[in-house]
Amino acid sequence: MVMQCHYCGRHFVPAKRVGARQKSYGRAECRQKRKKQAQRQWCDRNTECFRGDYWRIKQWRQQEKQSRESSFEPKDKTCRMIQDEIRLRKGDVTTFADYG
Ligand SMILES: [Zn+2]
Repeated sequence: MVMQCHYCGRHFVPAKRVGARQKSYGRAECRQKRKKQAQRQWCDRNTECFRGDYWRIKQWRQQEKQSRESSFEPKDKTCRMIQDEIRLRKGDVTTFADYG
């Protein structure tokens, strides 16, 4: 059985286990496209939920950020570096939580 890739139009033979449900094969390029599309679909689905709360949440996050920064002011370079690392890790977690 030969299928056509949903994203680049190339023909490929899908793995038997996955069968007709498989829309893209192993190319990284197509996997990325699929991922982006999934993210876009997720945003479309969730826009309605966010619309009402967006400005309230934005304001709340701004306040939260300001109070955190004023209360936790790093005193030396090492402390600042640790804080940056924590911020990076939090960023990763947020990305996964948003689109997972
Ligand atoms: Zn493809």
